[in-house]
Amino acid sequence: MRYSFKIGSAWGIPIELHITFLLLIIAVFILSYPHFYLFFIILFLFLFVVFHELAHSVVARHYGFKVRKIVLYPIGGVSEIEEIPDNPSQEWRMAVAGPLTSLVLGFALLAVSLLIYPQFITAVLAFAVTGNLLFDLATLNISLGLFNLIPAFPMDGGRVFRGLLAERIRYSDATRYAVYLGKIFGIVMVLVGFLFPSYFLLILVGIFVYIGASEEAEQTIISTALAGVRVKDVMQSEIGSVNPQQSLTEALEVMFKNRYHDALVEKDGIFQGVVTWNELMKIKPEERSALRVEQMPLKNISAYEDESILEVNKIMIREKIDLIPVVDKQNPTKIVGVLTSEAISNAYEKSKNR
Ligand SMILES: [Zn+2]
Repeated sequence: MRYSFKIGSAWGIPIELHITFLLLIIAVFILSYPHFYLFFIILFLFLFVVFHELAHSVVARHYGFKVRKIVLYPIGGVSEIEEIPDNPSQEWRMAVAGPLTSLVLGFALLAVSLLIYPQFITAVLAFAVTGNLLFDLATLNISLGLFNLIPAFPMDGGRVFRGLLAERIRYSDATRYAVYLGKIFGIVMVLVGFLFPSYFLLILVGIFVYIGASEEAEQTIISTALAGVRVKDVMQSEIGSVNPQQSLTEALEVMFKNRYHDALVEKDGIFQGVVTWNELMKIKPEERSALRVEQMPLKNISAYEDESILEVNKIMIREKIDLIPVVDKQNPTKIVGVLTSEAISNAYEKSKNR
């Protein structure tokens, strides 16, 4: 089931509305009937969250990261960025861009509303609600900015904290501290939500922060551990390959024997490509013995021995292949080994238990 719906796009970035936001909008519409003040506020909140997220995405693009989409949740959005930068100074700049945009918008609106209604200055100093749209929208943006700056990993503030810390200490240590702090904030938010019923939404945010911090911690620890692992450390040098003249039935036998899902195609010691299980499965069983491997579409993908398995893993996931040939850098048609997804997941398991 899909939990978010595409509602538009900006600069080619699809913007999706999460179902919780949609439910909130509908609920507020019903609850605020026949006075739609709160409803308008929620609609504006939605617009401001879009601005906030676009700020993250624009900075991410500036650093060359691909932004897959923006998903809007009531408490903020999530920019799905192709990969999390492991460059701390880029990370904190990307993270701070959203809250900064909210704060700038908020203070600009505040300045305008004070120009029009100077009498609000007493309300501003008392943090009171005025019931004036312009003024309340200013408060909304400032709150959105400040709330997201709470250093509760994986919220924006937590990412800023990790990035700034990682400029000084090791990335994995910075993550560990950021995660501790995130979990503490998560627990505090849940407690505050229970103690003060008007802040009950904090219970949900707290749980989200706590789980998010734990997940991200594990991910970072694994990636950091695996970042140092090279293809040559986990590849197999025993290569089971098929010849282009062999039939598809024979190719399947080779796959079964080697317990690979895909097979390397090699002719006279020269690498031709990878024939995938998925392609073979498209052919009816009774036709497989008559067809030869060379009649199949081959994937021409390979890796080098000194590449990081994290990078190679990304290629394998993208290309939906279970094995990748490792070729000689000087002579790219010569296969020196094979890296399987099984070997990568073994390395994952090992680094997790370390
Ligand atoms: Zn943000």
